[in-house]
Amino acid sequence: MDRIVVPLESLRPARTSVASGPLRTAGQPRGIDGGPIDRFGRPIHDLRISVTDRCNFRCVYCMPKEVFGRDFAFLPRDLVLSFEEIERLARIFVDLGAEKLRITGGEPLVRRDLAVLVERLATIRTPAGGPVDLTLTTNGSALRRLAPELAAAGLRRVTVSLDSLDDVTFRTMNDVDFPVDRVLDGIAAAREAGLAPIKVNMVVRRGLNESSVVPMARWARSEGLILRFIEYMDVGHTNGWRLDDVVPAAEILAAIDAEMPLDALPPNYPGEVADRWRYADGSAEVGVIASVTRPFCGTCTRARLSADGRLYTCLFGSEGHDLRGPLRAGASDEDVRAAVAAVWGDRADRYSELRAAATIATPRPEMFALGG
Ligand code: SAM
Repeated sequence: MDRIVVPLESLRPARTSVASGPLRTAGQPRGIDGGPIDRFGRPIHDLRISVTDRCNFRCVYCMPKEVFGRDFAFLPRDLVLSFEEIERLARIFVDLGAEKLRITGGEPLVRRDLAVLVERLATIRTPAGGPVDLTLTTNGSALRRLAPELAAAGLRRVTVSLDSLDDVTFRTMNDVDFPVDRVLDGIAAAREAGLAPIKVNMVVRRGLNESSVVPMARWARSEGLILRFIEYMDVGHTNGWRLDDVVPAAEILAAIDAEMPLDALPPNYPGEVADRWRYADGSAEVGVIASVTRPFCGTCTRARLSADGRLYTCLFGSEGHDLRGPLRAGASDEDVRAAVAAVWGDRADRYSELRAAATIATPRPEMFALGG
């Protein structure tokens, strides 16, 4: 097991860049009929499904109040995919190779009757007959009420976003004065409902919550939660992102390692976004999602479905591909499957690798629309 010596980055092999060779080569079988691979040899492994563009939080780095105020025009209900449409598309993606489905938003728990969707998605099997890894990302605000029914419907695990344990900092970041205790109670409810393992996502933004990093690490370690620190990303255009606001993953890890020594862990599967570490005493795992300082485009196998049924092949993608239109116009499963395979086959996204002044000016979807 590697021990950390600063600089931390030197202990990790360089990320696989899209230019350094395909994950798979054309012709390698996938799924029953062989799922598509993109122009850099990347298959579909995950589908992230945004079930709503609405959220009850106004996190300053995601849906700032000045932009997403009372007058903001969220999607009208009839343009949002129904549960039937989501299930149909999810089955098609699983048929094409997806093994993991993540429900997200906006805030997915604000979508009415979400457990009904979970129940439908939980019945999906891979072409080999195995279950899919079904999970959900939430701000945790409604977990106390909903965790039992979500678990009963077949949800397996949950990721909760939590940017600080300090109540003042947390309320400042969610910007709706939501108390941290209620999220902690939501996490407790998820645990009681048997949703496990529980992951916690913390976005770190310079000047806002970097002082919360080590306290969060201590807490998650003592609670046995898998904590993931996320570098603040330049998604969308509304959060006024500046490189200076990013706290690099290496800095986060060094701060933790100074108090609680860390050992590197290998990825669970090729394409896993988090760099994983374990406390040297084996007590818990911690990870960093370093999409700014260590882009992982080379192993990105994620497809994203927006609430209005557009397929995005990159979080930073400038435009989605409409799937709702064909679905509502009577396309067969085979037609939709062919359309998805064609979009994926043509995929050449590697935004994070190309992150530069030129691309920062191009249109990008907002995080709340795609769900991260
Ligand atoms: N509402 C749900 C939640 O809070 O987890 C799901 C949607 S939210 C957009 C998904 C994740 O994206 C959250 O963990 C959030 O903190 C993260 N996120 C949003 N904007 C981000 C940004 N600019 N950089 C990094 N992560 C971001």
